[in-house]
Amino acid sequence: MIKGEFKLIESIKERIDRAQKFSEKIYGIGDDCAVYKISDNRFGLFSTDISIENVHFDLSYTSLFNAGYRSMAANISDIYAMGGKPVLALVSIGIPQNITPQMIDELYDGLLACAVKHGTFIAGGDTSKSSELIINISIYGETSAPVYRKGAKPGDRIYLTGNTGLSKLGLEILNSKSASGSFRNSTLKHLQPEPRGDLTEIILKNYIPTSMIDISDGLLIDLGHICEMNSCGFKLYEEKIPVHDELKKFCSDKKISLTDYSLYSGEEYELLFTSEKYITDDERITYIGGITPRGYTLVIDNAETEIKINGYDHFK
Ligand code: ADP
Ligand code: MG
Repeated sequence: MIKGEFKLIESIKERIDRAQKFSEKIYGIGDDCAVYKISDNRFGLFSTDISIENVHFDLSYTSLFNAGYRSMAANISDIYAMGGKPVLALVSIGIPQNITPQMIDELYDGLLACAVKHGTFIAGGDTSKSSELIINISIYGETSAPVYRKGAKPGDRIYLTGNTGLSKLGLEILNSKSASGSFRNSTLKHLQPEPRGDLTEIILKNYIPTSMIDISDGLLIDLGHICEMNSCGFKLYEEKIPVHDELKKFCSDKKISLTDYSLYSGEEYELLFTSEKYITDDERITYIGGITPRGYTLVIDNAETEIKINGYDHFK
């Protein structure tokens, strides 16, 4: 039995590394994109991401438009996470029998709405029948200087774009089939997440990031990826992590912990990066902590607690 997604990818990576010797121009498994060095200041970025009905989305609460939108968003986000600009995408679909041509139109309207907004062309794909609806996108982007997960070091500051937690709340609201009227921001964040292409240039220019990742598994687990990659730790200040008013109100009404959402919510597609700079005057990008030599520490009301990292894992 497969025990965990991350162990599985590690063993696939070992197998691949044994069988092939990478050229110095190629950076392979372990980051948001694979990187191909075209010239000294031109790098191709490649990534792929799969969305499967009843695993990643459920047609009882999402439209095909939204299923398409968020699949494209997930792919584009990985290009931004490397500091790149998306160029083109290939879309492969597996189609079950109950899907009508109108539904496929709707799916493509969603895929295109996100692609066009982010300057990406859908340039091809593949089509097959399938038992569930499958959307698999491969994306190509470019950058003059990739920002890797590797590069963070003790003393660097940790920054987060936007806020976290809404996507998890949105999913819970959608799953519970309760009235979602007062949770519009949460359900929208889950159904139509917006990758942070609006901030990549500012991040690259003003912050000169030493490492970057997008939040697909959850703030903690994705920060954990950066720390593992760099053999370092972190100290996160709970009160600095931005949370939307809608989530704050929900947690205070229900008397539940905000951090259950802000630290563990996946599919946020916000950017998490480290930098030597200390900048606090951009309200869209928040300083939330620092990289340390070791240990994962959460600071709540000035009290430090060591934490374990848990996040979404497909096989757990
Ligand atoms: P992200 O959350 O940014 O999409 P993933 O967690 O999906 O990243 O993947 C982490 C790394 O593992 C990436 O570099 C990806 O290319 C690689 N990876 C994931 N699945 C496979 C696979 N089946 N074969 C080879 N590499 C994989
Ligand atoms: Mg990613």
